[in-house]
Amino acid sequence: MSIEVAPVRGPIAAGEEFRSGPPRIDLFALGGTIASVSKPGGAGADVGLTGEDLIGAVPALANIASVHVHSLRQVPSGDLTMADVFALADEIAQSIAKGVRGVVVTQGTDTLEEVAFVIDLLVDSDAPIVVTGAMRNASLPGADGPANVMAAVAVAASEAARGLGALVVLNDEVHAARFVRKRHATSTATFGSPLTGPLGQVVENRVRILVRPPGRLTIRLPRSRPTVKVALVPVTLDDEGDLLSSEALNSYQGAVVAAFGGGHVPRRLVSRLRSLSERVPVVIATRTFGGEMLRSTYAYPGGEMDLLAQGLIFAGAYDALHARILLQLLLMAGAGRDAIARAFDEGMTHTGHLIVEAQG
Ligand code: ASP
Repeated sequence: MSIEVAPVRGPIAAGEEFRSGPPRIDLFALGGTIASVSKPGGAGADVGLTGEDLIGAVPALANIASVHVHSLRQVPSGDLTMADVFALADEIAQSIAKGVRGVVVTQGTDTLEEVAFVIDLLVDSDAPIVVTGAMRNASLPGADGPANVMAAVAVAASEAARGLGALVVLNDEVHAARFVRKRHATSTATFGSPLTGPLGQVVENRVRILVRPPGRLTIRLPRSRPTVKVALVPVTLDDEGDLLSSEALNSYQGAVVAAFGGGHVPRRLVSRLRSLSERVPVVIATRTFGGEMLRSTYAYPGGEMDLLAQGLIFAGAYDALHARILLQLLLMAGAGRDAIARAFDEGMTHTGHLIVEAQG
């Protein structure tokens, strides 16, 4: 049964408020390296710049858009919480409802793909929502923040980027939030989409979209936004499975297991996984950067055929980081085992719009 849903439910009808003049872009600043500067005396860098400072460093933005800044947080992105991200999703939905052409979010890169994916799943709109950041802080030679802000605004203001869901733009590449990963600790080319490659590029402020994902998965949360915790448990060489039966897991309502390759664990972990999955939904994802999980290749104990036969849910083509976000939001929406399995199976490749409604 459907129940009332939160303000971010969609599709969000665009308002009329900002229909004249240059395209209006709302920029939400959350902190991160893009907003960081070196402290005096070699004391290291810390978050110190506001959203106004970020756009002040790029006067050429005025040639493509009218950018309005909302400085929401000034934190390293590891300090962001899901409550912060839900508040961000609400703010974005309100901006779009007023009629902005697009939205830019600036934040730290450490959790950028996770935040972008939450927004992708919750904000049901065709308006471009672009998340960006920087790898070199504003005090360093070759700081990449200003170029990334410029490219992000160009994408947010473009017609070409409409209807693609939330996007990540850094290093002049446009990535879909559902595919993108931070792949390198320091490179300015750290963001990449291992499954698909970038959707497009920004060249001289022209937005070139070369690939369009087939469909869209949206999750409509209940207004109450129940608290749900989902653990991410890695599997390693010589793993004895202690984490899977740790008491700490008792306060979690779901778990994603970052398993080997196409969905394998050491055989001695199978019974622990089965017991955990009798209590909460357990999703098996890959600990690699992605790729479709196997179904019918390996028959040995702990192989994917065995785990599927034990009733474990497989993550399809979602990697472990994305799978954890997806499972958390699905559980918040009250999705049962079959709806969870279907979302993982079809969410990335579904043609058209797959919507998971909050269940009462
Ligand atoms: N520590 C930074 C963060 O806030 C890293 C970055 O922005 O690149 O995520």
